[in-house]
Amino acid sequence: MAQLEKKLVRTIKVDLDKCNGCRACEIACASFHARPKYSSFNPSRSRIRVVIDERNDEWVAIRATDYTKAGCDGRRTYTINGKEYSECSFCGTVCPTRDLFKEPDSGLPLKCDMCEDESEPLCVQACPRDCLTCVETEEFVEDVKPVEAEIGMKSLIDKFGSKKVADILTRMTQGEQNN
Ligand code: SF4
Ligand code: SF4
Ligand code: SF4
Repeated sequence: MAQLEKKLVRTIKVDLDKCNGCRACEIACASFHARPKYSSFNPSRSRIRVVIDERNDEWVAIRATDYTKAGCDGRRTYTINGKEYSECSFCGTVCPTRDLFKEPDSGLPLKCDMCEDESEPLCVQACPRDCLTCVETEEFVEDVKPVEAEIGMKSLIDKFGSKKVADILTRMTQGEQNN
């Protein structure tokens, strides 16, 4: 059984009224997570995206959470302070019903890692209008978290099936051993 450990858990509060859709948060996240770091700034590689509907004056920054292979049946339309928000606007799930949070070259899902090694998340630092606020609370959490490779592997298995993925891995590792 996984051990529980006390940990500072970060979350990011979003003030919807302050956002103007400048997308500085997307650029900061994408460039910070580029390999090598800061070598590119393609927003489609960002783990935070701003859902924008200008006609509805809607600007919602959401962070990538978990991957799912099918859309949910729990779509909701929220009305906040009299304004109606689009379906899915507040959902960070990496979901096939929309083209968000998929690494553009590989199609693998992206996930926000809360910039845990940094004093403050890069998207929070970059936001010029203080819409994003990082909040830390002490919680007991399981001492296991899926690494990015595991999330990517799960999506490959969903897409191609475990046998095909296993065959490819075997072929690749044999190739490595022969080098
Ligand atoms: S984006 Fe989220 S709310 Fe929308 S269908 Fe997918 S899982 Fe459901
Ligand atoms: S917390 Fe870090 S990883 Fe998450 S969206 Fe912000 S910059 Fe990207
Ligand atoms: S940086 Fe701030 S103001 Fe700009 S899009 Fe992101 S959340 Fe909105």
